[in-house]
Amino acid sequence: MFFLFSRVILLNYNMLSINNIITSAVGYLPKWLAKPFANPYVAGENQEDVLKKVKVLNESGMCATVDMLGEHTKDQDEAKSVTNQYCEIFQKISGLNLDCNISVKPTHVGLDISYELARDNFLKLTSTAKRFSNFLRIDMESSKGTNHTIKVYKECKLVYDNVGLVLQAYLKRSVDDLKLLSKQSFNSRICKGIYNESSQISFNSRVNINENYIKMAKLMHQSSSYAAYATHDQDLIDQLIAWIKANKISKSSFEFQVLYGVPMQGRLEQLINQGYKVRIYVPYGKDWFDYSVRRLKENPNIIKYVLKNFLKSN
Ligand SMILES: Cc1cc2nc3c(=O)[nH]c(=O)nc-3n(C[C@H](O)[C@H](O)[C@H](O)COP(=O)(O)OP(=O)(O)OC[C@H]3O[C@@H](n4cnc5c(N)ncnc54)[C@H](O)[C@@H]3O)c2cc1C
Repeated sequence: MFFLFSRVILLNYNMLSINNIITSAVGYLPKWLAKPFANPYVAGENQEDVLKKVKVLNESGMCATVDMLGEHTKDQDEAKSVTNQYCEIFQKISGLNLDCNISVKPTHVGLDISYELARDNFLKLTSTAKRFSNFLRIDMESSKGTNHTIKVYKECKLVYDNVGLVLQAYLKRSVDDLKLLSKQSFNSRICKGIYNESSQISFNSRVNINENYIKMAKLMHQSSSYAAYATHDQDLIDQLIAWIKANKISKSSFEFQVLYGVPMQGRLEQLINQGYKVRIYVPYGKDWFDYSVRRLKENPNIIKYVLKNFLKSN
């Protein structure tokens, strides 16, 4: 099969449609065969795998945030076990002296089961972050959970200041949320948002989402909040940098974030050389398959990089 793929490259057929065909097929392949295509996006299946990758990232000047794959946990014991595993990672990060924090999805630690369960698990994570002088990022999922996620964030913030949230630029409510939350010390990742939301509550066009993103960046700066600009959109990064330079915004008040494995055409190294902080969101875990198929569907160009690497190593 790989021999066939390499012939295809040598013959220089239309790469885009080939990428799309392979992307569609990957979801139906047995896992062992799909793994080479999934590999760029996930750091491995266990804590040791992910922490090794984080060390390599740190050595190349990037910091990291680790995410255990999984969401919509339906079982209380499972939600507690996920929480305990995250606590263990905080401890290992500290032991290995890595520049790395943790990102946790509310439904992974029980928000679909009950608010109280998710809150208790997040409070445990916050206390552990505090014990190891680390930072906890609460990811934002679909708009069904936004109110509860903000509420849980506020409760955690009472325990320890080093807790942050995510706000999504595609949601019309986000500017108001930002204004309220930034009245006290605030650290937020700003991303576009990945879930399907109705046009009543969200912006649908790229232009409007990017406009709102920039508006939120300006509000983060005005309120002296710490911003994590999470995007692979090179035009948006250009716009942010132009605004940052024009307003002489301190490099210590923000960072850039990207997902592990998404090709950035040398942009990250460029940002680091210019003195900007770059953090990679590194997912790991047994649920790598569905996550990777979703990533491939978002960017079929990845296939090209995987095939190139495969051909180089064979
Ligand atoms: C560090 C980080 C954390 C995030 N956390 C959250 C969160 O908590 N909640 C939430 O709703 N969303 C989250 N997201 C996802 C985010 O909301 C966007 O959906 C996603 O990043 C795509 O938007 P973009 O800004 O990269 O711009 P786009 O304009 O969508 O993408 C720009 C280009 O980047 C490439 N690209 C973008 N995303 C991917 C991908 N995933 N895989 C492969 N290629 C890609 C594509 O080639 C695309 O053309 C996060 C994203 C990042 C980078």
